Amino acid sequence: MPVPATPSPEECAALLHSRGLRVTAGRVATIIHVRAHPHSSASEVHTALAGDLPSLSVQSVHNIVQDLSECGILRRVELPDSGGARYEVERLDNHHHVQCVVCHRIEDVECAEGRAPCLTPSDTHGMRIIEASLTFRGICRDCDAEPSPA
Ligand SMILES: [Zn+2]
Ligand SMILES: [Zn+2]
Repeated sequence: MPVPATPSPEECAALLHSRGLRVTAGRVATIIHVRAHPHSSASEVHTALAGDLPSLSVQSVHNIVQDLSECGILRRVELPDSGGARYEVERLDNHHHVQCVVCHRIEDVECAEGRAPCLTPSDTHGMRIIEASLTFRGICRDCDAEPSPA
């Protein structure tokens, strides 16, 4: 069951139920926030939710994103210039990322082949390849326009 673009609390609760997870306000709010703000870090999620859920600790948010990733509701992405894990809603679309090496902004890139793995390694070392996880690194237009610090 894919996560809708703007999931309601009821839809999040149904999703949690379907994965055998208990429905909590923190989990529901995390799914809604990450759906609207893909590639958020746990601390960004915590900052965003702290107003509505003041009792939610940073550690609980870390536990929540971990649980939601383990059950396949979120996908954990590790990008070279992000300094830590980021989370997005799992769309099972094998998409990749492009990241600006200057401001670290992240955008989604469609899968190159339309299905996983979209690259075949020159040597699989005997492994059955299930996916290729690519990060394209670049410089975004805004950063390219900045005069370089001399
Ligand atoms: Zn940039
Ligand atoms: Zn993404």
